[in-house]
Amino acid sequence: MSRLYCHDCNEEVEYELKTGSFPIEVRGKSITVEGTRAFCVNCESELFHPKFDMENQEKAFAQYRTLEGILSPEEIRMIRTGYNLNQREFSRLLGFGEITISRYERGSLPTPAQNHIIKESANPAKMRELLELNSQKVPEEVVVRLQRDLNTAVVLEEQIIREIRDIFHDNPDIYRGNVSFSPMKLTQMILFFARNVNQNLYVTKLNKLLFYADFYHFLRKGSSISGTRYLCDHYGPVPEKFNTLYDNMKEIELMENEYGQFILPTSAFDHRFFTPEEQETMAMVLEKFEKTTSSEISELSHQEMAWIRTPRKEYISYDFAKEMRMDTD
Ligand SMILES: [Zn+2]
Repeated sequence: MSRLYCHDCNEEVEYELKTGSFPIEVRGKSITVEGTRAFCVNCESELFHPKFDMENQEKAFAQYRTLEGILSPEEIRMIRTGYNLNQREFSRLLGFGEITISRYERGSLPTPAQNHIIKESANPAKMRELLELNSQKVPEEVVVRLQRDLNTAVVLEEQIIREIRDIFHDNPDIYRGNVSFSPMKLTQMILFFARNVNQNLYVTKLNKLLFYADFYHFLRKGSSISGTRYLCDHYGPVPEKFNTLYDNMKEIELMENEYGQFILPTSAFDHRFFTPEEQETMAMVLEKFEKTTSSEISELSHQEMAWIRTPRKEYISYDFAKEMRMDTD
């Protein structure tokens, strides 16, 4: 390509390529991209260059996706092919327009609402609900086959859930901070802390951060965030059966070094699972304990009435939150 069109000169002009970093706006957010752009040699206006402009936009989208927890084209394709659906069938089953998924798989940015639905559809139980809702929109043989596949997948998933449910039955009471247990929220809280502390997040410290976030939130708003029950362990409060839970979370990996087990987050934190108040509580806990070591935070938790007055190996009542102090000095 030897010449490009310049709007300001109103003709085809010679151009110069410059490489460096510059901002691109994606949905109102300014993203800094490293790339190449074309400029008019006569008036220095930036010119539209089909190849480089496309590359730059793709880079900006990729960064935006990571920042905002938006699925990549490849992730969307994997969810779809996991169900053996073509683009049109998948799109219709999600309740979208016929070509929406095709556009997303070619690189368009999903809207936040549709991104949320596609994410949810990765869960077979959720996909089954979508199928019931939109079954008339795809051929019957597709419905029949998908129903059969989903039933198998859901049965497998339910076995795992039941194992965990046995431990965590769902009644919201004072030991759950008046809300039902949400494995999703607990997972996202872990991602929040693991993504925001500046060093390895050890399980010992994580357990205390979760305890403080849930109990402080109860103190502030009368309910916990995740509905997790905490046991009074020898080393301080810990989420009930945390080992089984952490092992089964696909959004994190448990790593180990000489100092103990720590969390390696493998998914992005998604703030949309939380109310603004819940996010505020988590940010407060992060700020207060960010620089506290595992043993320091364990010792602090040992000074809480919640730990002192609960017999070892029993559940800690959220009533003790009222005796906690939240100040961040
Ligand atoms: Zn020009």
